[in-house]
Amino acid sequence: MKIAVDFGHGTGQDRGAEGYLNEEKVVREYGALVITGLQKLGHTVINVTPVQGGLTLGQSLGYRVNVANNARVDLFVSCHLNAFKTDVAQGCEVEYISKAGKTYADKICTELSKLGFKNRGSQQRPNLYVLRYTDAVSVLIEPFFCDTKSDCDKYNAKKLANAIIKGITGEDVYGESPVVVTQPVPDEKIFDTSIPAGDNITRFNGGIGYIETIKDQGRVIVHLDRYTYISMQNEGGESHIDLFSRTENKRLI
Ligand SMILES: [Zn+2]
Repeated sequence: MKIAVDFGHGTGQDRGAEGYLNEEKVVREYGALVITGLQKLGHTVINVTPVQGGLTLGQSLGYRVNVANNARVDLFVSCHLNAFKTDVAQGCEVEYISKAGKTYADKICTELSKLGFKNRGSQQRPNLYVLRYTDAVSVLIEPFFCDTKSDCDKYNAKKLANAIIKGITGEDVYGESPVVVTQPVPDEKIFDTSIPAGDNITRFNGGIGYIETIKDQGRVIVHLDRYTYISMQNEGGESHIDLFSRTENKRLI
């Protein structure tokens, strides 16, 4: 999936909330982990946060939306912290517009609430600029209140990022059970099974395998195919026999 990640605020007139924790700072902390975690899972992530300072609110919001729309992302994730009045409100909520957005929002809320934040649930907010003007499915995450002490005490950047990623992908990238990243198995079809042509190639009768000579390297190579062969070489007065196969290669002598 191609995912836009937006770190809320942080330029000119577009400032985050200040409480026991600073919204802009915390968002950049957990947001960076959201990006690396999604990348670890193989997603393409585009950070749509403005790099330029001194923007007006409109320029700041417009930039995020334009970058995401130009990149034709599949999902837009805006990272924020909530704020109200000191020690009054608490918990997590995720804002959305579309039905598809609600599906993500519900899952992210569920994962965030497992960290101990009160689940305030998904909230439909059709007037939020970044939700309204992004072409992709979009969510805006308010994981907790930066002006509520009990919420701030529960904050852990890695756990928060893990919960958000799990809500989006179902994967536990920073969790207890490590993600097993499997190496792609080479497709047999990519192997070229043809016998090369050339004056230095001698075919065997029967159509399997061939001998290749490389005169300037002092090498004679007996091939089963292009990737499985025994190479004999005189090199600076020493001779080597190397054995190669599709799955291993070793020098014998
Ligand atoms: Zn915010």
